[in-house]
Amino acid sequence: MDRFKSTKIAGILGIFGNLFLLIIKGLIGFISGSQAMIADALNSASDIFASLMTFIGNKIASEPNDNTHNFGHRKS
Ligand SMILES: [Zn+2]
Repeated sequence: MDRFKSTKIAGILGIFGNLFLLIIKGLIGFISGSQAMIADALNSASDIFASLMTFIGNKIASEPNDNTHNFGHRKS
């Protein structure tokens, strides 16, 4: 497995894992009225965003070279 493929899997797992945590923590937070649980649900929401950026950045970096990017897109 190359590093782009493993990073892609890490990004996808991060998105869906944190989505699961967001829903569970959000539901329990609202049912119990726990502000700490709701705050932690929001933290999971920001983790989804971070995982999404990992996924998108990796997708851009994994593009092969072309005329304007002779050495590939992972280098400037
Ligand atoms: Zn290009």
